[in-house]
Amino acid sequence: MDFENLVIIGSGCAGLTAAIYGARANLRPLVIEGDQPGGQLTMTSYVENFPGFSEGINGFELMDNMRNQGEGFGARFLSVIVERINLKTKELFFNNGQNVVAKAIIIATGAAPRMLNIPGEREFFGGKGVSTCATCDGTFYKNKEVVVIGGGDSACEEAQFLTRFCSKVYIIHRRDQFRASKIMADRVLANPKIEVLWNTIPIEICGDKKVTHICLRTENRERELPCSGIFLAIGHIPNTKIFGGQMELDLEGYIMTQGAHTSIPGIFVAGDCCDCHYRQAITAAGMGAAAAISAERYLS
Ligand code: NAP
Repeated sequence: MDFENLVIIGSGCAGLTAAIYGARANLRPLVIEGDQPGGQLTMTSYVENFPGFSEGINGFELMDNMRNQGEGFGARFLSVIVERINLKTKELFFNNGQNVVAKAIIIATGAAPRMLNIPGEREFFGGKGVSTCATCDGTFYKNKEVVVIGGGDSACEEAQFLTRFCSKVYIIHRRDQFRASKIMADRVLANPKIEVLWNTIPIEICGDKKVTHICLRTENRERELPCSGIFLAIGHIPNTKIFGGQMELDLEGYIMTQGAHTSIPGIFVAGDCCDCHYRQAITAAGMGAAAAISAERYLS
């Protein structure tokens, strides 16, 4: 068993910012990278609203820069997944058989894409037509008609991005107005390649080896819309399952916080796993900094 000052679980914006601050406080934090090193921003196209990058920056590049910055100050990275954790004793068990005891832990596990849970969704997921990442999979749909589901910023961003490749992009939204910010919604509405189907609910994804169409319900009418790809952009679920029963979570599974503190001494939290309100790269980064400062004060 290894002993550590500070273990940071997660390597998205929150985790890596905590790593930079923790390393600069000379804590030599150990960052557990998890199954998606760099977090959700590595799946996005361009980040236009991170302060300091007036021309925007590629999401992957931004995260790579943050990782290098942390490493430069002495943060260490372990490419494993936490399989089990005891928050009271601060013992972590990884999927490579290794385990570690920490003096303090920062939880920055982020969130995972929400699924519709309709027939056909799992069957056609991953290479067969259903995706949660336009940046990763958009290029497979050159000159094809695709569907984006959702009405938030992600749906608008994904739809905009897909118009680079696809002949037509439908946005299927269950209400009659977007949840997305006005600037994103206006861009979508002005794009001639995008058609929005309002008040429409997906009920089944159909195909043979790959997706051929989606069944939709608008008011009481059902119809089939031919399409080759379906991109889900209906929000996220916090990655907090392994903490269940050990700490306070809200009804949706977000960790309950008091600032960067949790209900357990020495356990701190940052980013999308505890934030259902803002969920921005910059707010996650800010929370990561706050968590590292709190951890440093706790340790000293
Ligand atoms: P979101 O804002 O929660 O929007 C999710 C959308 O999916 C909503 O329109 C919701 O409908 C719809 N939805 C949820 N469950 C559904 C279901 N079961 N069936 C059909 N539709 C469903 O999520 P998001 O778009 O991923 O954005 C998350 C956060 O990240 C936001 O704070 C957003 O501002 C931010 N973000 C920012 C940028 C950017 O600034 N560049 C880009 C992406 C995301 P209702 O509207 O009816 O609830």
